[in-house]
Amino acid sequence: MRKRLIYSLSILFLLFTAGIALSMLYIYKITANLESVINLHRVEIIRQNLVINTQTVQSNLYAEGTAFGKEVDVIVNNVTALDNSVHTCSACHHNKQMTARLKDLGDTVEQYKDAISYLLTTTANPERIKRLKTVAVDIGDSLLSKTQEMAFIADKSLNAKTIQAIRDINNSRVILIVTLILAFIIALTTAVTLTRQITRPVYELVNAARMIASGNLGYQTSYKDKTEFGELASNFNAMSTALKDGHEKVLRYIRQLSGLYSITLSFYRITDMEDVYREICQQVADLLKVGQCGLILYDNERDMFIHQPSAFGLNNDEIGLLRFKRQRIENLFKFSNGLPIVSNNPANDDRFDPRIANALNERSLLIAWLYRKGKILGAIRAANKDREFTEEDARLLTILGNHMAVAIENAELYKNLQEQMIELRETQEQLVQSAKLAAIGELASNVAHEINNPLTSILGYTELIKDERDIDLIREDLSIIERESLRAREIVRQLLEFARRRPLQVTDVDINEVLKDVIPLVSNQARLNNVELFEEYEDLPKTIADSNQLKQVFINIINNAIFAMPEGGKLSIRTSRLGEYILVIFKDTGIGIPKEVIPKIFEPFFTTKQDVGTGLGLSISYSIIQNHGGRIDVESQEGKGSTFTVRLPIKGFS
Ligand code: ADP
Repeated sequence: MRKRLIYSLSILFLLFTAGIALSMLYIYKITANLESVINLHRVEIIRQNLVINTQTVQSNLYAEGTAFGKEVDVIVNNVTALDNSVHTCSACHHNKQMTARLKDLGDTVEQYKDAISYLLTTTANPERIKRLKTVAVDIGDSLLSKTQEMAFIADKSLNAKTIQAIRDINNSRVILIVTLILAFIIALTTAVTLTRQITRPVYELVNAARMIASGNLGYQTSYKDKTEFGELASNFNAMSTALKDGHEKVLRYIRQLSGLYSITLSFYRITDMEDVYREICQQVADLLKVGQCGLILYDNERDMFIHQPSAFGLNNDEIGLLRFKRQRIENLFKFSNGLPIVSNNPANDDRFDPRIANALNERSLLIAWLYRKGKILGAIRAANKDREFTEEDARLLTILGNHMAVAIENAELYKNLQEQMIELRETQEQLVQSAKLAAIGELASNVAHEINNPLTSILGYTELIKDERDIDLIREDLSIIERESLRAREIVRQLLEFARRRPLQVTDVDINEVLKDVIPLVSNQARLNNVELFEEYEDLPKTIADSNQLKQVFINIINNAIFAMPEGGKLSIRTSRLGEYILVIFKDTGIGIPKEVIPKIFEPFFTTKQDVGTGLGLSISYSIIQNHGGRIDVESQEGKGSTFTVRLPIKGFS
């Protein structure tokens, strides 16, 4: 465009210059003509002077009897002027014909001068004077006629030149006007064309910029030419394409990052190793759109890196091929400096076994390491049959690999934790058992007393039967014996049931019934300690629970309460419903618990009962109720008593 502008302006300039030059030429021509016209006028004056001079001399020559003294001066002056005139004329440039004429005129003037000179210098002979006068007059006449002839020619030339000058003036006017009009039209056309050529691409570019601003990224302008605007348009198109590509790249990154984020989140949620592996393969396949993906992990027992069965896009036979010696993988890791490996021709890559690449028909291979705390856990192996892997894929898989390594470590930790939990549960069960045994120890005297009562009755009535003859009375006594025996058996059954080691057994349980079963086991102890029991049962819905474990909790709380009232007191046992919970409230009027001790009573082995306490009762009770989805709350005032509230959800386990 710059060139075009320069060319256009140069042409305009040349046109104007040509117009001006043409006009100047004409003006020059006109002035030249006018000059020659003026010159001709000047010549005419000279000629007229010449004629006047000649005629004056002639008239002096014709004048008969004139005293020469006076006329001689006039003649001499006029002849001199005449000579000057001819010389003046000859000094100018003339055509050949005119020059010849002027020469002839000059010669004639010379002859005239000579003739007059003879005449003026001759005094003796009048005849001779007369003859010389006649000669001079003749020459003078000839001079006059030649002058007239030349005047005639000059007049013709003057006319022609004047006409030509007028014509030239008219022509120059026309040319000037035409030049001006032409210049104006050409300038206007050039300006319009140039403006169009400048504004069209500008408009196109403005429009394209607007399209891009409105979100139409990648918009291409159709404008094309070889000027700077064409270059600008093609650069603009390239920029728009780059913008679109960049935008798509950013979108792709965002998609990948959000995919990565959800993948990594899912990793941390999964705790089972196999699930982690499966999830990894699936997610990598989704994210990178790969044909095959699997995990190669170190197998401790075999001292090898083995491809996990949870692979994507590989069958069992293919997975079987992917087993590598530890050393080989370690070397590969060292060789790659821990960076991901991309091979777009694994069949011809020294680092890989070509047999595997051929067998699995792999066109490109990507390996990202699973490395954690100085240990190679393994690698993610992704392969494609139809496309090559990019650096971007490698970067993404590396990020994924880092998260996976943590996820695998987490899963391993979780596995260890689970094993420890199982161990802990077993220990806890043993503790529960020993607590039970301790409780049985406490219960033994109660139970013995409970059994003693029916046994005393049985023995007493057996004695009575021995002497009794009345069969009806015997039957009556026997039924008492039977009832008392059943009571004793029930007490023994409950004791055995409590002492038995069993796993958690949940059933539909009526909490009121559980409490009612517990009361006989503790009532004797309460009686011995002068503790009055008050029971208040609200109608309750059944809940899912292990009744045996609940009994253990209730016995423990009641025994503690009785122990806290050595001088006797009151223990109220009340059940009620609060929303979705069942409350069992044990309120005693015992010694209470010091404020600073309350936080400790649920700690294992915390006891204030020297020699007799184990400190396990409440801690085990708490974990049992917690396992049921409930909790135990304590309120206590030293010297006034304590309230233990057991809260159990109605629906059972949550
Ligand atoms: P243990 O009964 O073997 O001491 P527990 O875990 O059952 O173990 O009880 C821990 C401690 O809680 C008891 O030693 C006692 O100091 C305190 N305690 C429990 N219940 C009461 C209560 N009702 N009144 C006062 N103190 C209590």
